[in-house]
Amino acid sequence: MYEQRFDKRAFDELRPMEAETGIIANANGSARFRIGNTEAIAAVYGPQEVKPKHLEKVDRGLIVCKYDMMPFSVPDRAKPGFDRRDMEISDVITNALNRAVLLEEFPRSMIDVRVYVSQADAGTRCASLTAASMACADAGLPMRDLVAAVAAGKIGDSICLDLTKEEEDFHEGGATDVPIAFLPSKNEIVLLQLDGKVSREDLKKIVEIGKLGAHKIYELEKKALRRRFSNES
Ligand code: UDP
Repeated sequence: MYEQRFDKRAFDELRPMEAETGIIANANGSARFRIGNTEAIAAVYGPQEVKPKHLEKVDRGLIVCKYDMMPFSVPDRAKPGFDRRDMEISDVITNALNRAVLLEEFPRSMIDVRVYVSQADAGTRCASLTAASMACADAGLPMRDLVAAVAAGKIGDSICLDLTKEEEDFHEGGATDVPIAFLPSKNEIVLLQLDGKVSREDLKKIVEIGKLGAHKIYELEKKALRRRFSNES
């Protein structure tokens, strides 16, 4: 049973969030997204020449994304280097961005996306993807939509939005955790992973609660980008 969340949030409530863009002077686009004690910083370079050259595509651009956790982002000090988890998360972020950015407009070029987690308290792939999509928009890349991502899941009998690390670890054998990303205005899912076991009915409920959360994140992303571009003019 999990009747009251550790941080007293409602089951469908997101942690407090912050979003800003244009935070890195030496990148073409950049963004920071914080949700509770999870924070990701993203930088976008390009479109630029493809390196190595053999990866070049004649009819479309290429997104190369690298996710990493800063050593001080977790209590135990994250190990330096690119491990299997970093590789997997880099891949799922790349796949989602491939659906969002209009890559056919950049044949023979590459967009380099770097995402760093400065604080981790679960949900880092979602926060990273949200930050990366804002950074792509900040770089002026034409996009089908922004990506808004959040994890939802089940703890005990309760369907929960935006789990903390404490919640993920709470239930015996771990909670069920489902990172989800949407292109909200298209109503398209561009990332759906499942860690744990869940019935089909519960999965539907988890996706629905995730969608509600993603729409709130989407509003914040748009607000951050509007703020940035209205400041510039
Ligand atoms: N984590 C950690 N050390 C690590 C990797 C992860 O403490 O080396 C924590 C961190 O809080 C992270 C959480 O475990 O957010 C869950 O990690 P997971 O692989 O499920 O991905 P995430 O939920 O961050 O997308």
